[in-house]
Amino acid sequence: MKTNLKELTIHEAHRLLKSKQLTSVELTESYLDRIALVDPKVKAFLTVTSDLALEQAKQADERLLQLKDGSPLCGVPILIKDVICTKGVKTTCGSKILENFVPIYDATVIEKLKASGAVIIGKANMDEFAMGSSTENSAYFPTRNPWDLNRVPGGSSGGSAAAVAAGETVYALGSDTGGSIRQPAGFCSIVGLKPTYGRVSRYGLVAFASSLDQIGPLTRDVTDCALVLNGIAGYDKRDSTSVPQPVPDYTKSLIPDLKGLKLGIPKEYFVEGMQTEVALAMKAAVSKLEELGAQIDWDVSLPSTPYALAVYYIIAPSEASANLARYDGVKYGFSFNGETMWDSMEKTRQFGFGAEVKRRIMLGTYALSAGYYDAYYLKAQKVRTLIRREFDAAFQKYDALVTPTSPTVPFKLGANVDDPLQMYLSDVCTLPINIAGLPGISLPAGFGDGLPIGMQIIGKPFSEETLLRVAYAYEQATEWHKRKANI
Ligand code: GLN
Repeated sequence: MKTNLKELTIHEAHRLLKSKQLTSVELTESYLDRIALVDPKVKAFLTVTSDLALEQAKQADERLLQLKDGSPLCGVPILIKDVICTKGVKTTCGSKILENFVPIYDATVIEKLKASGAVIIGKANMDEFAMGSSTENSAYFPTRNPWDLNRVPGGSSGGSAAAVAAGETVYALGSDTGGSIRQPAGFCSIVGLKPTYGRVSRYGLVAFASSLDQIGPLTRDVTDCALVLNGIAGYDKRDSTSVPQPVPDYTKSLIPDLKGLKLGIPKEYFVEGMQTEVALAMKAAVSKLEELGAQIDWDVSLPSTPYALAVYYIIAPSEASANLARYDGVKYGFSFNGETMWDSMEKTRQFGFGAEVKRRIMLGTYALSAGYYDAYYLKAQKVRTLIRREFDAAFQKYDALVTPTSPTVPFKLGANVDDPLQMYLSDVCTLPINIAGLPGISLPAGFGDGLPIGMQIIGKPFSEETLLRVAYAYEQATEWHKRKANI
C-alpha cells in the first residue's frame, strides 16, 4: 500500500478502496489528521466538516462493500470552495456578510458528488465573492502557498488549490470567472480546469458574474481531472444556461500522443512584463508538445486580446453589482439593526462587504448607469463579440491554443494588495477564455526559482476531451506533476 496518503490521486485511492487495502474511514481520518497538522500554516480551510466527512466515509465503506464497480469518487475526500452551497454547512463566500449563512439546499454539483459517494471534508478559503487573484481578499485570513509560505496561492480559489498541493485533500472544487481555478492551479503546481460555459450547472453557485462563472475541478493529475468532470458535468433544468449536450466519458481522451493535432501559440499572450522564466518554460513545454506529435504554429495572432482585461473589468463588475444587490440584511446573513430600514441596509452593506467588493459594486453601478451604459457596458459587450469571433476563427485552423497560465510565478503576500491594477494583471492570460465562454485547463509546466509555472490549453466550446488529451500526453512525458511542495 502506498503509505504516503497525502499524495494519493483519486484513481489511486479508488484502487486501494476497491481492493480493500484501505477503508474510506481510514483515508478520511488520515486527511483530517493532516489538516490539523498543516492547516495552521497554510490556512486553506474556512470550515472543516469532520463529522459530516466521517459519516459520509462510513456510508461510502458500506457502498464499496456492496457495489462491484462504484463511482471512482466514492469514499474519496473532497474540499469545496466556500462559494458553492452545501446544505446544512456554512457557506460564507469568504465574506462577513454571509458569516452565518447556512444553505437549506445543495448546489447541483454537490448533489451529484453526494450521489457518487464523495466525502466532503470542508469548505475552502477564497477571495470575498471570488473577487481577487491571491486569496488576500478573504474577509477571514489569507491562504498561503505551500511551495513558499510567504507567497500567495493565487485566487480566488486559493484555498482549494493550496489544500490540494499541501496534501490536505485529494481534490477540490473551485469556481472560475476570470481565471480563479486555472491561476491558483498554476501557482500551486496542480491541474485546474474551467469547463465550457454551460457544461457544469451553476445552480447553487453563489453568483459573481453570471455570464462568466463556471465550477470546475482542481486535482493532482489530469486523470483525476477527467474523473471529476465525468462526475459533475451535464445538463440541469435548474440552470437555464446549462447545455443539454451528452457527457462523454472523459477518461477515454487520456491518450499519450498528440499525432494529428494542430496547436497554435497566440503571440499576444506573451505580454509585456512576463517573467523570463515563464517565457522559457513555455518554449520548452511547446517543444515537448511537438515531440509528442503535435504540429505547432508559433505565429498565431488574436489582435483583440489586449482589450480583454478592460472588457472583463466592465462586464464582471456590472453583473456583480446586480447580483450583490440581494445582500441587504433582510434575506441572508449579517444584518445591521439601524435607525430606519434604509439605514439598516446601508450599514449592513457598509460593514458586511470588504473594500474590493465595494470597489466592484461601484464600478459596475457606474458602468450600467444611464448615460454611461452605451459608452462602457454596451461597448464592452461589442468587444466581447470580437474576442469570441477571433477565437472562432482560430479554431477553424487549430485544435487548441497553448499559452502561459499567468505572466509570473506566485508573488509575495502583500505585494499587490495596494495596487488593484497590478493584481488584475495576474489574470490577463485567463480571462479572455471566460469572456468567450471557452474551456481552459492549467497544468504544471515547470518551475522558476523553485516556484510553480503553469501552462494553459484553450479549446473551442465543448472540446474538453481535446484539452484533456493534450494535457495528459504532456503530463505523461514530463515529471513536473511529481514534484511535491515540501510542507
Ligand atoms: N481575479 C479575477 C477577478 O478578480 C478573476 C476572479 C475569478 O475568476 N473568480 O475578478
